Amino acid sequence: MATISNSHARPAAFRRMVRGGSASPGEVQVIVRHLLAGCETCQRRMAEARDAGGDHATWSYDAVFSRLARRPSEGERQERTMTAHYEHVHP
Ligand SMILES: [Zn+2]
Repeated sequence: MATISNSHARPAAFRRMVRGGSASPGEVQVIVRHLLAGCETCQRRMAEARDAGGDHATWSYDAVFSRLARRPSEGERQERTMTAHYEHVHP
């Protein structure tokens, strides 16, 4: 188990991310870093957020990573790409 020294993202950030990527890029980076490191607290918060969102069966990590792959300076285009991907995952 990797050791995580950074603080966890707040539960509200998980819920925003699950509901279509409206969490800030910083929040998403913290969440993904913790999940990839196997952080049990963040895994539990993600599970709770997905349950609260009610659509965890169709939620995809792809949406998160496609968002991370883009530079923050792309701004609007990033949001449009995120939205298009979300609609593809959630027809
Ligand atoms: Zn964590």
